[in-house]
Formats: sequence, C-alpha cells, structure tokens
Amino acid sequence: MLTKDDLTRYERQILYTGFGEKGQKRLKQSHVVVAGLGGLGCTASLYLTCTGVGHITLIDCDHVELSNLNRQILHCEEDIGGEKPLSAARKLAKLNSSIEVTPVFKKITEHNARELIKGADLVIDGMDNLQTRFILNKACVAEGIPFIHGAVQGLFGEVTTILPGKTPCLACIFPEVPQRRSTIPVFGVTPALIAILQVTEAIKLLAEFGSLLTGKMLYFNGETMDFTFCNLVKNQNCQVCGTKEV
Ligand SMILES: [Zn+2]
Repeated sequence: MLTKDDLTRYERQILYTGFGEKGQKRLKQSHVVVAGLGGLGCTASLYLTCTGVGHITLIDCDHVELSNLNRQILHCEEDIGGEKPLSAARKLAKLNSSIEVTPVFKKITEHNARELIKGADLVIDGMDNLQTRFILNKACVAEGIPFIHGAVQGLFGEVTTILPGKTPCLACIFPEVPQRRSTIPVFGVTPALIAILQVTEAIKLLAEFGSLLTGKMLYFNGETMDFTFCNLVKNQNCQVCGTKEV
C-alpha cells in the first residue's frame, strides 16, 4: 500500500500515464541489487532511491579514496577510508528514509554471487571489470534474474538489458573474457549518464511499461554525442545460457 507521504513524494511520476499508483506500488515491492558502488553504482542507487524502489542492496568491497570523488557522487571527503556500501547507505537514508537500504561489504566471487543476489527482482551492473561482470551474468542467468549491464571508459559507454532465457547474455556478447585492465580514464559524467539509462530500464522493467533495451546494445560516444545501437545475437553454444545437450 502507498502511504499519504508516498503519494506526495512520488506525485510527479505517479502522474505519468502508464505508470500511476500501480507502477509506484510495484517499485515499492521491488528489491534491486546494485553490484558495485563506483561511478555507475552511486548514480544508479541514488535514482533508485529517489524513485522509490522499496529495497536496495548495495554491494562493494572497496574503501573510498580521494581519486574516486570525480565520479562516485555518494562519497564525500569525510568518507575517505570508509567502506563504500556504508558511505552510500548513509546518504541514501537521508534522501529517502521510507525505503530499506542494505549495505553489504563483500567481494563478489563465483562462490557467493548467487547467494548475494538470490530473491532480487533485478541486478544493476555497477562493476569496473569484465571478470566480475561475467560472474554476475552467470549468477543472474542461473537465478533467472534480469541483469542491466552498463560499462564506461573515458567519454564512452554502453548499456543493455539482459533477460535470462530470452535475450543474449553477457557471455554471448563477449565470448572471451578480456584480460583485466589497469586503471582506465573516465569523466564523472559518463557513468552518471549510463547509470541513469540503467535506472530508466529498471523502472520500466519493475513497473512493467514501455519497451526495454533488450537484444541490442546502446553505445554512447560523448566526444561526438552519438547514440548508436547494435543488435545482439544469442549464441546457442553459449557456455552460460546456451541450449544444453541432454
Ligand atoms: Zn549467453
């Protein structure tokens, strides 16, 4: 049920045709896992919070550093040295005390990934490396949980929504896991923009309206301000989501 405060707080989005009180109730009943609290995860969790997603789990295993502050907007100078999930949860609680935020200070591994996301309605990819993205992708496919992929570098970014069993998964798109890269350049605006697109997908997916960025990748080029799309194809032999032989 939506409270009187909910109706006031979310008034401007409830007015949106196709969303309404029904959509707001769906968001309130939803549980979203934000994996990674860097540039993508900070902006994504901020907007999931102000939009009224009822339960948000924040997972990261890093401490806040000065060099994070050009893009990881939930962390402040006073948080340097602190655990990222706690730092983020404190800010989100100030923004919206009516939702539940669960900080989890853990490294996502092959062994704990499924347990960490179990029961969630969707997972937002806020990771900074493809290795952990692959672990999450596999766990999401195994648990049947939608996975909204986002990645950035410099002024370039990409987004796609993966629905297990329906769309290509991350392993279909990238058949080989690239080598772990050293520190990449990034402007704060790029993860902010990509995270906003991820949350836009999340809102539509949870509230069941509009159409999703499924089966295609959106590429953003901030140097030329081009948004382009590429159709994605499911790999029937994919080791993660392919049709298995009996
Ligand atoms: Zn696949």
